[in-house]
Amino acid sequence: MYEFDKLLSLPTPCYVIDENALIKNLEILKQVESETNCHILLAQKAFSAYHVYPLISKYISGTTSSGLYEARLAYEEMGEKQIHCFSPAYKDNDFAELLKICDHIVFNSFSQWKHFREIALKSKNIKFGLRINPEYSEIKTDIYDPCSANSRLGITLENFEENELDGISGLHFHTMCEQGADVLERTLEVVEQKFGKYLYDMEWINFGGGHHITKPDYNVKKLIDCINRIKNKYNVQVYIEPGEAVALNAGYLVTSVLDIVKNNMNIAIVDTSAACHMPDVLEMPYRPYIINSDEADILKYTYRLGAPTCLAGDIIGDYSFDYPLKTGDKLIFTDMSIYSMVKNNTFNGMPLPSIYLFTANGDIKLLKKFDYSDFKRRL
Ligand SMILES: *Cc1c(COP(=O)(O)O)cnc(C)c1O
Repeated sequence: MYEFDKLLSLPTPCYVIDENALIKNLEILKQVESETNCHILLAQKAFSAYHVYPLISKYISGTTSSGLYEARLAYEEMGEKQIHCFSPAYKDNDFAELLKICDHIVFNSFSQWKHFREIALKSKNIKFGLRINPEYSEIKTDIYDPCSANSRLGITLENFEENELDGISGLHFHTMCEQGADVLERTLEVVEQKFGKYLYDMEWINFGGGHHITKPDYNVKKLIDCINRIKNKYNVQVYIEPGEAVALNAGYLVTSVLDIVKNNMNIAIVDTSAACHMPDVLEMPYRPYIINSDEADILKYTYRLGAPTCLAGDIIGDYSFDYPLKTGDKLIFTDMSIYSMVKNNTFNGMPLPSIYLFTANGDIKLLKKFDYSDFKRRL
């Protein structure tokens, strides 16, 4: 880790995107593209900090979106790159707009495909696909599992209308979350077994997101092998659309200690909120890492970190430090680029953290600053 002192001088709360870390991830993704000829798309759901889209566009093929707003953001901010879209259901007005800016549009059902088919097929340059649900996943948390019982996401084999494929050039599946290439390999087996017979007639397949490609122990070679095998067997263009992997470990959230209170244990109130600034801490749930900290009771001083909101459960977690915390101390949460800024809210009047870029040459650049008007405008 380097130059954290610079982060400690920033007004809090703030997110800091780490450009060097982002570039490190992007280089791995670019290598996967070049060794497979697959196209990698940023899933904007995880990370939409468009100030770095020009940088991202130098390394990967484009973006994917879940609807008009994300697609439009990519169109406005990422230049001449591919724009893909998948939505569980499109509204008529949105669909007309999407036809003007997308390269690929994926439908979640045959009824949506039939509803839009006529106007869709007037757009000769757009490729249309269907999201399938292979009913196989290895995700343990239901809220993140697109293959959980009665899932609305994707078409199951039982509901696949093989006589309605005229105009469809590809299939899409998304069934993974923070998983390795071994999970992809097992998933592909099921996808092939159930839908392989249709793949021979397709031009492309999209393996979705959830590939933890830039995590240190990820088996990149296995991913490359999986992509090349499917590409060659079915003669298809392969796409993958990771979100997390693009900006994994590429950002921080800096917060200040506002007060220390006691109730059987030491509790530090900080100027950031799990509910507002890192909701996955409550939803996943997970425990973000803080630089120079450890689990509770490992180092000498343990604190529960809580937000300045009135939600009793707005607790980030219990951490220990080798020094006693005091008002004004700053703490740095890591891996705060993904699923953080995109999920922000101003519940309870919480301010939105500013967004800074820690540039490749070590400068700190302010990208966004928010104030009271951002809170008021939404209500
Ligand atoms: C969320 C999502 C992604 C990205 O998932 P990550 O876990 O961030 O890689 C890709 N495709 C679809 C359809 C998604 O819903």
